Amino acid sequence: MTKIQKSEQEWRAELTPEQYRILREKGTEAPFSGEYDFTFEPGTYRCAGCGAELFDSQTKYDSGCGWPAFSAPAAEEAIDAETDVSHGMVRTEVLCANCGGHLGHVFPDGPAPTGQRYCINSAALKLEEE
Ligand SMILES: [Zn+2]
Repeated sequence: MTKIQKSEQEWRAELTPEQYRILREKGTEAPFSGEYDFTFEPGTYRCAGCGAELFDSQTKYDSGCGWPAFSAPAAEEAIDAETDVSHGMVRTEVLCANCGGHLGHVFPDGPAPTGQRYCINSAALKLEEE
C-alpha cells in the first residue's frame, strides 16, 4: 500500500498530460526527449507526482540510453520495484514508494559499486537544484 491514495480524477487534475501518462499509465517518454536527460546540476530529484525525494544528482550519470540514469535511489525505501512482463520482456519496474507512480525501470548494467542502472522518465521527476 502506498501512503498517498488519490483517485485517477484527482491525479488527472494535478498532473500534466505527459506526467499522467507516465506516472499513472506506466507510459514512457521518447528517448533523448526528456527535460533531464542531459541535466547534471547538483540537486535532489523528487517525484513529479508527490514530491518525495527519489534520487540524488550525485548518482546521476550519462548512460547514453536516452533517459536520465541513476546508479542508486536516494534511499532504498524511496522506491518500490516490481517485475514487469509487458512488451515481451522481463524487466523490473521502478515505482515511487510514496504515491505508487511509475518512474521507469532498473537494469543490472550500471556502474560500480551498485551495478544498477535506474532508467527514469524525466516527466516523472522534478529537480530541486541546490
Ligand atoms: Zn511519488
